[in-house]
Amino acid sequence: MTKAFDPHQAMADARHEFGEHGGVNMSIEASTTFTVMTPDLMPEIFAGQLGPNEGGCYLYGRHFNPTVFVLGRMVAAMEGAEAGYGTASGLSAIAAVIMQKCGGGGKVVSSNTLYGGTYALFEKYLPKNCNVETSFVDIQDLEAVEKAMQNGASVLYTETLSNPTLLTADISALAEIAHKYDAMLVVDNTFTPLIFSPMQEGADVVIHSATKFLSGASDVIAGVICCSKSFIEELMDLHLGSLMLLGPTMDPIVAFRLSLRLPHLAARMKEHSSRALFMATKLQEFGQDVVYPGLPEHPDHALFNRIRNKEYGFGGLFTIDMKTSERADRLMNLLQNEQQFGYIAVSLGYFDTLMSCPGASTSSEMSEEAQDRAGISPGLVRFSIGITGSIEERWNQMKQAIEQC
Ligand SMILES: *Cc1c(COP(=O)(O)O)cnc(C)c1O
Repeated sequence: MTKAFDPHQAMADARHEFGEHGGVNMSIEASTTFTVMTPDLMPEIFAGQLGPNEGGCYLYGRHFNPTVFVLGRMVAAMEGAEAGYGTASGLSAIAAVIMQKCGGGGKVVSSNTLYGGTYALFEKYLPKNCNVETSFVDIQDLEAVEKAMQNGASVLYTETLSNPTLLTADISALAEIAHKYDAMLVVDNTFTPLIFSPMQEGADVVIHSATKFLSGASDVIAGVICCSKSFIEELMDLHLGSLMLLGPTMDPIVAFRLSLRLPHLAARMKEHSSRALFMATKLQEFGQDVVYPGLPEHPDHALFNRIRNKEYGFGGLFTIDMKTSERADRLMNLLQNEQQFGYIAVSLGYFDTLMSCPGASTSSEMSEEAQDRAGISPGLVRFSIGITGSIEERWNQMKQAIEQC
């Protein structure tokens, strides 16, 4: 059965917005405040009863900016969400959502394999500063998830594809558990835009670090929250909203730049995916310990295949386990400094290849035991495969570097 939802088409439908002079791109609204035409209108505008569509106007840029709004609308459309909102970073999007739902004594149940910053937020920052406790579970162990949810958590949190272990979360099964306990399922879809559509599987909130694939150029830090209109309104509430009051606002110029990247996100994702599959297949034939969900040997290959939108492949990330951190460093050094294969840098989704050793970088917030539990070996190298250069030449570079390790 083919899926009815087409995220690329949905986003194209939502983009349409002429620029001020009929430009094919929207204009950038660079004003932080907006003119109230007569003073008597101010009270109603301030109370949110007289917006631009009701004969009033926009109020203030932290609350609402039309350029940021269009960007949010595009990403929301891609996820099939009612509403979306741009934030200053992916992490601020995550923090705002969790604070809104759980701040002051609430509980989170979360996957134990997370982006390092999110892990530190949940493990250290939120208990210390906001009295929010998180129970970490193996997100693939549905019984353990259900057991943990019995503590009254109001958020179940996961990434679609765990970082850096690339295991797949069964979103529809998790949504069922979350809803049974009256909780929200919050999903970080940063690794798999277009590939997975978590809201179609029952997720309540989808978060993106737009810093990664959505940007594609490693030039902006940004995030997006996709959810119901009512939850966005809650986040934007003048008295109680986390976005409104903590203020992680997206800059309209960033929103504009991202709006020019999203139309070719589909083309980029297909290319990242096909190159990652090519490279992972070659590496496996070459006897390397490679993990990529597109390989039939991957433990979640069937699950990934069942829930993905078929056109976009299996994503741009794979890992090679070099066993020791010394060999991992040697491989990365050769690839960067001898072969010009890519860059030793954290982050992902760039048009060139980025590689890092999670144990020493993005997952270093986790203790050695926690890393071990999450399956992060000290020699694990994560690759975010770029889309530049000839793929055959890239494979030659990789092969030569491995032969010297
Ligand atoms: C990078 C990243 C984040 C944090 O996003 P920022 O834009 O850097 O704040 C969150 N989740 C995942 C999966 C990421 O890769």
